[in-house]
Amino acid sequence: TSHSGAFSLARSQELFSEAQQLLPGGVNSPVRAFRGVGGEPVFIERANGAYLHDVDGHRYLDYVQSWGPMILGHTYPSVVEAVINASQRGFSFGAPTEAENVLARLVIESVPSVEMIRFVNSGTEATMSALRLARAYTGRDKIIKFSGCYHGHADMLLVQAGSGVATMGLPDSPGVPAQTTQNTLTAEYNDTAAVEQLFATYPDDIAAVIVEPIAANMGLVPPTPGFLESLRELTERHHAVLIFDEVMTGFRVALGGMQERAQITPDLTCFGKIIGGGLPVGAYGGRREIMSLVAPLGPMYQAGTLSGNPLAMAAGIATLTELRKPGQYQELERKGQVLEEGFTKALQDHHIQASFVRIGAMFCLYFNAEPVVNYTVAKHSDTARFAQYFWNMLEHGIYLPPSQFESCFISLALEDAMLEETIRAASTCLGALIS
Ligand code: PMP
Repeated sequence: TSHSGAFSLARSQELFSEAQQLLPGGVNSPVRAFRGVGGEPVFIERANGAYLHDVDGHRYLDYVQSWGPMILGHTYPSVVEAVINASQRGFSFGAPTEAENVLARLVIESVPSVEMIRFVNSGTEATMSALRLARAYTGRDKIIKFSGCYHGHADMLLVQAGSGVATMGLPDSPGVPAQTTQNTLTAEYNDTAAVEQLFATYPDDIAAVIVEPIAANMGLVPPTPGFLESLRELTERHHAVLIFDEVMTGFRVALGGMQERAQITPDLTCFGKIIGGGLPVGAYGGRREIMSLVAPLGPMYQAGTLSGNPLAMAAGIATLTELRKPGQYQELERKGQVLEEGFTKALQDHHIQASFVRIGAMFCLYFNAEPVVNYTVAKHSDTARFAQYFWNMLEHGIYLPPSQFESCFISLALEDAMLEETIRAASTCLGALIS
C-alpha cells in the first residue's frame, strides 16, 4: 500500500488479521477486502451523517454509503426513530403487517410501472426471483444479460458479472454447473446489434432481458441514447420480459429510478438498497398480470422467513418518506454538479487523462483515456493509478469505493463545505499521482 507516515491503520490491521482466521478473506462480501486497491480494509466503528469513523480514530466523508442505501446520510434521525419504534413492537412475526402495505404503496406510487410488489431480503433474491417469474410467465428458459452488469450472485447470473467479480478479475465462478448458465446469453452493454442478433438466433426462446439501466458495477456506464429504447422494442416484439435491475438506481437517480429519467416502462423492476434504508431488503415488482403468477396468488414459488421484516420496512418507509419531500432530487443533482465541476477542473489543472462520469447522485472517475461505454473498455482502466488515488484520498479523509469498478454515491448529508473539501482533496491527490 502507498500510505505512509502518521496515518496509521494499526487497529484495522489487527482486526483484519483476526478476521482472516475467521472469515474467508476476512470479510463477508469480497470487495470489502480492498483487494481492488492492493491493501487491507478500514474497519468502521460508527457513522453519522456524511461521515464514517474508523477504529483508528479517523473520520472520512463517505462516498460508499454502504454501497448505495444511505442516501440520506447515516443515522438519519427519522429513520433511527422508526427502527427503534418498530423494534420495540417486535423484530419479526412471520405474519403480515401494515408496514408492508405502506412501503409497497410508497414504491408503487413512486414507480408507475410497478403495480404489485414482493419484498425479499437482498438484491440477489430480487433478480433471481424476477427471472424465475419471467421464465414462468413466458414458458421460456433463455435470458440475456450484459457483460459487466452485476445482478447479485445467483448461479445463472455469474456470467461476465461486474462488481467483485470484475474487481478480482475472476473468471466465472467455480461451483456454478454449466447447465445453470447454458441459458444465460450475454451481450456487450450498449450494443443493440448484439441483442438483435441474439433474438434473431433464438426468436422463441428468450424469456427475459435483464439490464442495469445505468451500469454501476463496472464503474459507471450510462446507457447510450436509444439503447434502453431498443431493449424495450425488441422484448416487446419477441414477447420477452424486460427487467430493469434498479437495485442501485432505484430512488437514487430519481424517485422513479432510471425508468423515470429515460421514460421507459419495463415489465418488471428489481429494487434493493435505498428501499431498505440500510437494513436488508430487496424487492421485485411490475405488471399486475405478471406479478399475479407469484405464489400464493399464482404458481411461481418464492418465499422468505424474514421477508417484509418489520424493522426493514420501518427503515424503508422512513427513508422513502424523506425522499418524497419536494426538492430532494434537485438537491442531489446540484451536489452532483458541484462535484462534477470541481473534479473536471482538477483533471484539467493537472493534465490527467481520466474521465469523470456522473448521473444524478452517482459518479465515477475512470483512469481511462477512452469514454467508457462497455465492459471491454472499462477493463482497460488503469487500476494501479486508481489505487494510488484511492489511498491518497483515504489519507485526506475521503472514503471512496475501494475499486475502479464501482460507482461513488452522493448523500443528502454532504454539505457544500464538505463537497469543497472533497474537491480540494481530489485536486491534491490527482496532482500527486506518479505516472
Ligand atoms: N443488482 C445490482 C444492480 C446491484 O448493484 C447489486 C449489488 N450491488 C445487486 C443486484 C445484488 O444485491 P445484493 O448485494 O443486495 O444481493
